Amino acid sequence: MTENESERLLDGASVARTLRERLRGQAQEVRRLGGPPSLRAILVGDDPASMSYVSSKTRAAQDAGCLAETVRLPQTTEPQRLLDEVERANRDDSVDGILVQLPLPPGHDARNVFDTIDPIKDVDGLHAENVGRLVQGRPRFVPCTAAGILALLDAYRIPIEGANAVVLGRSAIVGKPVAALLTSRNATVTVCHSKTKDLYAVCRRAEILVVAIGRPGFVTRDFVREGAAVVDVGINRLETIEQAPTHLRTPRLRDAITRKGRVLVGDVDFDGVSGIAGWITPVPGGVGPLTVAMLLKNTVHAARLRRA
Ligand code: NAP
Repeated sequence: MTENESERLLDGASVARTLRERLRGQAQEVRRLGGPPSLRAILVGDDPASMSYVSSKTRAAQDAGCLAETVRLPQTTEPQRLLDEVERANRDDSVDGILVQLPLPPGHDARNVFDTIDPIKDVDGLHAENVGRLVQGRPRFVPCTAAGILALLDAYRIPIEGANAVVLGRSAIVGKPVAALLTSRNATVTVCHSKTKDLYAVCRRAEILVVAIGRPGFVTRDFVREGAAVVDVGINRLETIEQAPTHLRTPRLRDAITRKGRVLVGDVDFDGVSGIAGWITPVPGGVGPLTVAMLLKNTVHAARLRRA
């Protein structure tokens, strides 16, 4: 990375460190109101990426002075057994926040699982009631990745009001909530998806481009307006160079895969886009750490709501 590029880096890891420090103080205040905030993560199956996400979330919660535990259920768990586990956490007065790690194994209905979580313990903000509140502009819990993206833009004072923002991807956990948040901050928002026509041209209008599609290096410099703030949400694990699209197959990536056995890359071709973007997030170290910080923020908030 050149010196010039590093000046334009949206350094999520550093913003997240500051937020987590602040949250540690808030968790201590909550502790005085009746015990530390507590988080229960429910993990179904043994997907290595999910296991690593859950352990970094619970570790971060403990570092911030919260209680955090993980309930692990086998890959073969019946849908009703998972719902029963969620109900058990709902009834458990010692639990402030409940997190069910996605993706769930086939056969589970994620929508139904989220709607089973008590909405005042729904720290991922995915229960229909919390989604509705977000869209109405009176949020209770904002989905963590979307909240993290806004926190990152704000930390670097990227103007949002009046900006043309394009959100590439319309998932319930990232695309839709980030579009709602940008709209509530008076950006002019376009949401794109797999059926969008002339995707390049639409994306090239963006002063803020948020990409969450789960396709390694999909967004090349042709998608990007000069000076745009590009937020890359994608986390794609590559274990062989053949899993990368040809334009990403640089000697550096090949080397990294050979050395470590796998690498994480975003949905944006960082090397190609950093020469034209005004600001850009790295992967890893961009949005991911803020997702974790926002989960802690929601957990502290849940504890406050329940102790009020
Ligand atoms: P998702 O549920 O898989 O949804 C993907 C979205 O991208 C869909 O709306 C899909 O359109 C759209 N899409 C897929 N291919 C496309 C194409 N070729 N052109 C245009 N649109 C396309 O995605 P997600 O759960 O939001 O995750 C997206 C990425 O973000 C993944 O890599 C995931 O690992 C990562 N992620 C990172 C964090 C973090 O903390 N950094 C958090 C969550 C997710 P349709 O709706 O038309 O199918």
